[in-house]
Amino acid sequence: MKSFEPFDGMIRALRARPGHAFLVEWAASHEARGLEAVRAGLLCPTGGDPCGACPACVGPDHPDWIVARGAERIRREEVLDWPSRALVPPVQGRVKVFVVPAAERLTPEAGNLLLKLLEEPPLHVVLVLTTDRPHDVMPTLRSRCRPLRGPTDEDVPAPPDDLAALLQGDFGTTDWVDKLPELGRALRTALRDPGRIPALAGEHPDRLVERWQAVVEAAIALEENANRDLVRRRLERRFRGRPA
Ligand SMILES: [Zn+2]
Repeated sequence: MKSFEPFDGMIRALRARPGHAFLVEWAASHEARGLEAVRAGLLCPTGGDPCGACPACVGPDHPDWIVARGAERIRREEVLDWPSRALVPPVQGRVKVFVVPAAERLTPEAGNLLLKLLEEPPLHVVLVLTTDRPHDVMPTLRSRCRPLRGPTDEDVPAPPDDLAALLQGDFGTTDWVDKLPELGRALRTALRDPGRIPALAGEHPDRLVERWQAVVEAAIALEENANRDLVRRRLERRFRGRPA
């Protein structure tokens, strides 16, 4: 069964108060998983939380989920047939969802066409715009949408796989300087939510705090131009639990 964590709160807000248009804000890095969560939230036929098993929750495609294509800009041609498609009732569920990822890419012409769609939307139509820069989304369009916030960077742990070795103090040839923010985030997440970061499951909170402090101190030392090798060696030692 699929889990939509850490988007559960957002899904509940979406299901509790349905509407015709949403502007979802999240970091661009959350787009793919976030869209899956929105799709499950709007289209899963189960009451309450999405089931995590039906085609709306797990399928690669869904006939009532229509996504705008387009690379740098989303032009009028990409959404030209949306008003006519909107008139056709949904195939499987109660709503038909039109999605514009990174909606700040809409050209004014495309945006105006979507505004028309929202003027007298058929009851089954839902428009979802996503963005990491809400103020770059066409204001007239933005004002018609209910704002929804996805999780922030702080809420989502970094992918643990490439961090696992680092978190255990095995720095190998990794460019650990670039990884400092991710390390700090993973440690903080593990402190708040034990078990969330598999590489740190079962660690004593004191050890997590110790390593988190080591990360912060390393970042400060680097800013003060401390010797990189020294900083690295100290960090490795403290990650492995030996005195610095
Ligand atoms: Zn489902």
